[in-house]
Amino acid sequence: MQTVNTLRMLRTALAQLRVENATIALVPTMGALHEGHLTLVRRARSEADHVVASIFVNPKQFGPNEDLDAYPRRLAADAAMLEAEGVAVLWAPDAAAMYPDGFATNVSVAGVSDGLCGAARPGHFDGVATVVLKLFNQVAPDMAFFGEKDFQQLAVIRAMARDLDLTRPHVDAIIGVPTVREADGLAMSSRNRYLSPEQRAAAAVLPRAMQTAAAAIAGGTGAAEAMGALETELIAAGFTSIDYATLADAASLAPLEVLGAAPARLLVAARIGGTRLIDNIAINPAA
Ligand code: AMP
Repeated sequence: MQTVNTLRMLRTALAQLRVENATIALVPTMGALHEGHLTLVRRARSEADHVVASIFVNPKQFGPNEDLDAYPRRLAADAAMLEAEGVAVLWAPDAAAMYPDGFATNVSVAGVSDGLCGAARPGHFDGVATVVLKLFNQVAPDMAFFGEKDFQQLAVIRAMARDLDLTRPHVDAIIGVPTVREADGLAMSSRNRYLSPEQRAAAAVLPRAMQTAAAAIAGGTGAAEAMGALETELIAAGFTSIDYATLADAASLAPLEVLGAAPARLLVAARIGGTRLIDNIAINPAA
């Protein structure tokens, strides 16, 4: 595996990979890797000849009072994990390489960015879209892998890819990968390491409460009632606040009050102390 941190080095490394129509898959990350990230890498390896992984803690997607400085950085350990998974190139620029002096462009995907995490974290999805578009231009991958863990992010990237012709027409080259969970159901996240043992135990209530709410909604309970019960359960378990708990159309992310015929998603963002956890699950209409 080659680890590169300048665009010039990246281009040289990519030129070595791009021979005889070899395909390249991109797996963007912010590092502090866990099994969720490695599952993306394994999927990417199974579908492309070469995998380029990126590690960049993107300042543009953090708000002024968020955890940019505290975000875990473990480049050496991450690189060893990626190398063991057969990644060809690790692209690990610093902020000055990604955003040189005078950088002035912002990419904003209206609509799908607006609610949920976009409402709770103003500017977050502009930061995500801007860096992901740059990564696409830098790497020019044939396909790219993203986790359903960040369901709204995946929707934003799909919309941007469609709008800006990032991928070939009629080819779904933005590939979503189901959320990888701990044994007790908690979605794996780099931020889980912020949790104290007591908070970690409380966090496991989130996926359980979401399953309960999903079953109620699938059985005909309205979203407001099911979400009210879910919020009560989270607060009782030790969560300190809930940013949102929403039933939404799985494609548009528009909020729903009752489950219809179309696929729906239950999405939650909630805080335990200073740690913000997000999760989402599918809700399928009863057969
Ligand atoms: P991050 O490093 O948090 O920006 O995540 C990098 C990529 O890994 C994103 O596409 C995430 O959606 C994905 N990811 C993070 N956690 C998980 C997980 N538990 N399961 C599947 N994918 C994940």
